[in-house]
Amino acid sequence: MPVAEKKPEASKSFTPYEPAPGEEYMNEQQLAHFRQLLLDWKQDLMEEVDRTVRHLQEDANNYDPADRATQEEGFSLELRTRDRERKLLKKINETIDKIDDDDYGFCEACGVEIGIRRLEARPTATLCVDCKTLAELKEKQLGG
Ligand SMILES: [Zn+2]
Repeated sequence: MPVAEKKPEASKSFTPYEPAPGEEYMNEQQLAHFRQLLLDWKQDLMEEVDRTVRHLQEDANNYDPADRATQEEGFSLELRTRDRERKLLKKINETIDKIDDDDYGFCEACGVEIGIRRLEARPTATLCVDCKTLAELKEKQLGG
């Protein structure tokens, strides 16, 4: 069994955007940069989904009653992966919609600029670092 490695959320390599001094935040060029980033990511993810679906089909074809427990474990893991991929794809599509609506890159909670570097690391981010940290703290308090 290969060890599952923790991949960064956006796996595709890209050239970091270098804004010119005084450049307006989320101008057309920046929006185009992030649209491309998201489209590349979506492409990657769709290929991943294809692979997951193929695995599921192979598992179904190679069904071995003697090895049922292991296979069912693998099967449910792949179903979960597929579910995660589907949700992520939805989020990417929603984010591309936001770019098209010129409503991208600002914190949904407080309205500040999320920032180019943060968005490059996490293109689907909808909160600034402060609000995200706060949300996570609240979640921990509620859950803990
Ligand atoms: Zn905020």
